[in-house]
Amino acid sequence: MALSVVDLYRDILPKTNCGECGFPTCLAFASMVVSEKLPLERCPHLAPETVARCRLELEKQYAAGKWTKRDPAKDALQWARQRAASMKIEDLAGRIGGNLASDADGKRFLELPYFNRLLWIYPDRVTLRGGKELNRWEQVFIFNHIAQGGSSLPSGQWKSLEQIPNTISKVKSMQAHVLEPLARLFAGRAGALAEASSRLGGRLLDPKQFGADLAVVLHPLPRIPLLLLFWDQEPEDGFEARVSILFDATIVEHLDIESILFMCERLVELLEQEAFLPDFALQMPENK
Ligand code: SF4
Repeated sequence: MALSVVDLYRDILPKTNCGECGFPTCLAFASMVVSEKLPLERCPHLAPETVARCRLELEKQYAAGKWTKRDPAKDALQWARQRAASMKIEDLAGRIGGNLASDADGKRFLELPYFNRLLWIYPDRVTLRGGKELNRWEQVFIFNHIAQGGSSLPSGQWKSLEQIPNTISKVKSMQAHVLEPLARLFAGRAGALAEASSRLGGRLLDPKQFGADLAVVLHPLPRIPLLLLFWDQEPEDGFEARVSILFDATIVEHLDIESILFMCERLVELLEQEAFLPDFALQMPENK
């Protein structure tokens, strides 16, 4: 029989709230055991046979996902993979770019430029060239790109997120998770941003045509360019640094709105890595 928080508290734990498990009450500990899979033996007042008996039940309910906290990245990736599952690798190059190739086992994959790197896209997985893992949110927007079905080439017409339909709910998130962090990171360091962007494969444009201090076009993916504009801080005039990201008008053919945000969040991480991490650190696996 499954063990709920109440079952554990009422029937198993001593209810003395002694705190030796690291939690102030037995009920708080029970909640962590059920939802976060905390080992029951962290309560030192239980008989080993009680722990063993409960562990059997707990393992069953963990395996079934019962009462455990949902993992949003896992759920999103599962959904994105399902969306992309019907796509044939052979059909992708014509639609999203890249080149078809075969690995040492004869398995076909698509080699797709991704910033300054190359992706290897198989029907069931996406890695960096050579098999290096991508983080799960990256996989989500890449699988969504595969599934989205668009084939348009960039139009050269730039739009802000606000100008793209149905994005109202994401505009604040973009500001909080992408534009403001980027502005803070590079305030007073326009040169570092230019260098980091170039290292990611970005092409610097004349910023004057946009009235900015820096303008760079980046290609996260071949059909998905974005234009990053940066205005540096001017402390004497009370102006803080500011960032804007514009998207090609065709982006909604290639990515859903949520994935646009994931892609931009990844851009922030990559720019930060390129600008501030020593070279040896960039060789380390990127796990998330
Ligand atoms: S150690 Fe056991 S008895 Fe003490 S508060 Fe934690 S769960 Fe309750």
